[in-house]
Amino acid sequence: MTLTRRTLLKGSAGAAALASLPGCGDPTPTLPQGGPGFRPGEPVPWRNWAGTAWCQPSARLAPADEAGVVDALAQAGPGGVRPVGAGHSFSSLVPTDGALLSLDALTGLGEVDDGARTAWVWAGTRLGQLGPMLEGRGQAMPNLPDIDYQALGGALATSTHGTGTRHGSLSSFVDALVLATPGGELLECDAEQNTEVFQAARCSLGSLGVMTRARLRNRTPFQARESTRFAPIEELLEQAAERARQYEFWEFYAFPHASVGMEIRTEETDAPASPPEPEEPSALSSIRDLAMFLVQLGRPGVAVLDSMLAGQAPSEKVGRSYRVLAHTRNDRFHEMEYTVPAEAGIDCLREILETIRRERIPVVFPIEFRYVAADDIWLSMFEGRAGASISIHQFNDLDYRPYFNQIEPIFWKYEGRPHWGKLHTLDAPRLAERYPHWQAFQEVRRQLDPSGRMLNAHLREVLGA
Ligand SMILES: Cc1cc2nc3c(=O)[nH]c(=O)nc-3n(C[C@H](O)[C@H](O)[C@H](O)COP(=O)(O)OP(=O)(O)OC[C@H]3O[C@@H](n4cnc5c(N)ncnc54)[C@H](O)[C@@H]3O)c2cc1C
Repeated sequence: MTLTRRTLLKGSAGAAALASLPGCGDPTPTLPQGGPGFRPGEPVPWRNWAGTAWCQPSARLAPADEAGVVDALAQAGPGGVRPVGAGHSFSSLVPTDGALLSLDALTGLGEVDDGARTAWVWAGTRLGQLGPMLEGRGQAMPNLPDIDYQALGGALATSTHGTGTRHGSLSSFVDALVLATPGGELLECDAEQNTEVFQAARCSLGSLGVMTRARLRNRTPFQARESTRFAPIEELLEQAAERARQYEFWEFYAFPHASVGMEIRTEETDAPASPPEPEEPSALSSIRDLAMFLVQLGRPGVAVLDSMLAGQAPSEKVGRSYRVLAHTRNDRFHEMEYTVPAEAGIDCLREILETIRRERIPVVFPIEFRYVAADDIWLSMFEGRAGASISIHQFNDLDYRPYFNQIEPIFWKYEGRPHWGKLHTLDAPRLAERYPHWQAFQEVRRQLDPSGRMLNAHLREVLGA
């Protein structure tokens, strides 16, 4: 989110109080000290961005080309092999005692079709590198997630998404891909060839092999304007469906306990780019102690929090789409996200907010609400139904479990499907109920990897293999 310390504190009643509170200085995000340390002679241990998953792989592989990926898969030892992108998943998709295979050496554009406006992209390319590359060839991705640190292969493996009723997840932009299989083949897949593999591999959790490249359906480059405003949460809840239809990219954040929310709408524009924003620490980390204190005071404290939020001036940012749609994250956190059917999204969010208030759950991290279009990808959270994706977060130095455990059953009540890359507690039998093409996916997985060399403990649990 674009909330900065400067905008949040400007003119707010809490600014003076804030300065005097302990722990309210500039935050330095810290990782928990989980996982093995470096041991000479062994590969460097791996840990994810959030510090929720780690491993000591027996080998780290970074093949230089597509043939090298096939060789690496063939040579990986009995401990198996896991592809890794940028390590930005919260769930334990990546950890392995076997070989960790990175596509960091396979980046950039392959063949570009100007007429069809498609481009082959190597799967190790970070989304943040991709925007300027595509613009140089007269193309842009139609949408982006909140951040752009992910590798393309990692983002596609979990059906990573942005917001907008007219846009599916990034996986839905793929119209062909190449998969290096555990059996040593390079399979090109699209709607005409290897179609079942195509349906499975556009969101595969890295369980089918290694995607080396994908062909993306793009659009022409565009300038975007992001407008942020604070509004009564009731207004945002009531108008959500209508405003999401009105604006191509629309979302909002609900502040737990408060009656004010933050709307972010992004539109195409011809306006000139705004000056670069100054680097500053996140407002959220800066005010968390104060906000927590106010929330724990009960009604009078929440009234102060409301007035702080309501007093925020609207803000705007204009620039190239890939600079505006993706953001920098200065807070480190844990996250759970479920996608419920779009039409149930607001009811589900209302129940979450009511539960937080009723149970006095001590949380101040805003809840993100986004709409995403339906697709036909077997394990995509948006398969067969347009979705409302609701994300709850907790600062990563606080225990997220009591909060997430209270909220997760609400997502289940609304037929939620968890984001594969975020925290959840569902196992294979309960996930299978949520995906009509579950068995078809399993069939493809068994054919491509009969001995389960691509699986780790987490995948065995969520895929039931
Ligand atoms: C701060 C933050 C913000 C986020 N914002 C969003 C958001 O706005 N929207 C959203 O949907 N998600 C979001 N996420 C989640 C994130 O996009 C996903 O978890 C994504 O999968 C991470 O990509 P990665 O490159 O880091 O992959 P990793 O986490 O390294 O790996 C993810 C999966 O991809 C597999 N994989 C990686 N490369 C390949 C390959 N070449 N072939 C096959 N499989 C492969 C891995 O085996 C693993 O199963 C966010 C995460 C963080 C930490």
